[in-house]
Amino acid sequence: MSLLHSHRNISGVINCHAIASRGVLGRQVFIEMHLIVDAADVETAHHITEEVESRLEERFRPVRILIHVEPPAYKSE
Ligand SMILES: [Zn+2]
Repeated sequence: MSLLHSHRNISGVINCHAIASRGVLGRQVFIEMHLIVDAADVETAHHITEEVESRLEERFRPVRILIHVEPPAYKSE
């Protein structure tokens, strides 16, 4: 699964890491990831996260997604 490419071209996304996925493509997929965002407030961070979720939905649905949002300072984690 090319999860790493799903967030490309989404403004505000700096990095994603600690990605875990399981399940069966076309039946039910589960995805967890950390997402580093460049966002001034929670509302913006949420909007960016929704963009990433909808990309993943398009590609892997039915999918359940859990995204752990982090600020830019966490980049080395
Ligand atoms: Zn992290």
